[in-house]
Amino acid sequence: MDCIFCKIIAGEIPSSKVYEDDQILAFNDINPQTPVHILVIPKRHIRSMDEVTSENSAVVAHIFETIPKIAAKAGLTNGYRVISNCGDDACQSVKHLHFHIMGGRQLPENMG
Ligand code: 5GP
Ligand code: ZN
Repeated sequence: MDCIFCKIIAGEIPSSKVYEDDQILAFNDINPQTPVHILVIPKRHIRSMDEVTSENSAVVAHIFETIPKIAAKAGLTNGYRVISNCGDDACQSVKHLHFHIMGGRQLPENMG
């Protein structure tokens, strides 16, 4: 499968890892938009939020349970934003479900 994030999981493309367990991986975004910009992904390929089902949503729950730990480890003591772009209108560029953790400065109130 020609998926850049699956290649990162497989170690075929290097990444700056910040957290890993058996189900998920978190690494620094290659093109950070904020001082802290981390991507959290399931190791299992899920194309986007549109493909989350009752059969695979446990890993999404696990991601959300782990995000506070990743954020704390990254020093985000004053808050952060979590974003998942889904589909073309949201400009999803990598078709492997991912959650952006963004922070390290005051973020704009307007998100769209
Ligand atoms: P999207 O636009 O799909 O929500 O976000 C994809 C994100 O993946 C972008 O912020 C982009 O900078 C990041 N990205 C794309 N390719 C790579 C890569 O090879 N390594 C890392 N670390 N981040 C990547
Ligand atoms: Zn993938």
